[in-house]
Amino acid sequence: MQPFSYARAQTASDAVRAATTGGSKTRFLAGGTTLYDLMKLNVETPANVIDVAGLKELEGIDASGSELVLGAFSRMSDVAAYPAIVAEYPAISESLWRAASQQLRNMATLGGNLLQRTRCAYFRGGEPFACNKRKPGSGCSALGGIDRGHALLGGSDTCIAVYPGDLAIALVAFDARIDVLGRNGQRTIMVEELHREPGETPDIETTLQPGELILRIRIPKTIMGRASTYHKIRDWESYAFALASAAVALDMDGEIVRAARIAIGGLATRPWRVRDAEQVLVGRTLTLQAAREAGEAALQGARPGHDNAFRIELGARTVADALMIAKQRA
Ligand code: SF4
Repeated sequence: MQPFSYARAQTASDAVRAATTGGSKTRFLAGGTTLYDLMKLNVETPANVIDVAGLKELEGIDASGSELVLGAFSRMSDVAAYPAIVAEYPAISESLWRAASQQLRNMATLGGNLLQRTRCAYFRGGEPFACNKRKPGSGCSALGGIDRGHALLGGSDTCIAVYPGDLAIALVAFDARIDVLGRNGQRTIMVEELHREPGETPDIETTLQPGELILRIRIPKTIMGRASTYHKIRDWESYAFALASAAVALDMDGEIVRAARIAIGGLATRPWRVRDAEQVLVGRTLTLQAAREAGEAALQGARPGHDNAFRIELGARTVADALMIAKQRA
């Protein structure tokens, strides 16, 4: 691990000021479950670490208004078990329960979870491997390498790393926003606009400006919340990243779909909302056949490599199964 300076912020404004002064090699430390990991691997080598874990102002859950508001430093396990979220937004609760291990969920914050970096083994493997995300311009070992877990959607000729998170998939399905604080003040962005496709610059993963800190997540209240689920398929049910996942929510008029939300995870370079697949269902009776057609629409445009083509069918089935689970809750 490389030497670094350490400072504890007293307020969110302090943290942003310190990060702005510290420059591009500054990182925020909250739960630490990703940052420490990558520092030990020498993938992250910050010069300055700003500890924001003590900022109680950014913890907490407020379900009393027209939006569900989640403090960015709320712990994953607290949010997953919060009764109003379990009842009104099962997709969000499930996306948290099905991520990581209990120990990690007790430590990790929502903001850190949104910003977790890819599990691409070449990215984490360090110097022996070429990686444009870790070292721009060095190449991509996954292209032509082992790509079983890599992205089928949203990749480029420079990077096909999959976005590994679960919570962001559910948030995208619910049109959630985040408030962020930067040197020019506060602004709000859609979670769907937070993560970037790699394009020519896979090292730039989000639309956050340098030094910006996520303050809170805001989720509009919707009757679709109750009829929702997060369905995750992985190699080990106990603890693994998604081979394919789907967050879905339904508004039903009896057996007929009035509206649907579908976002998929584990398959793309960023959380992937699939509005074409949603439209497949609108006005139709939700049968297994209709759900299957929506699943196939969700994977339209998928570009397989040599080891990961099986996840096109897996992804379509994951969406279809998620829709049938949500239908039971409608
Ligand atoms: Fe690096 Fe992306 Fe290639 Fe993985 S897929 S080796 S993260 S450039």
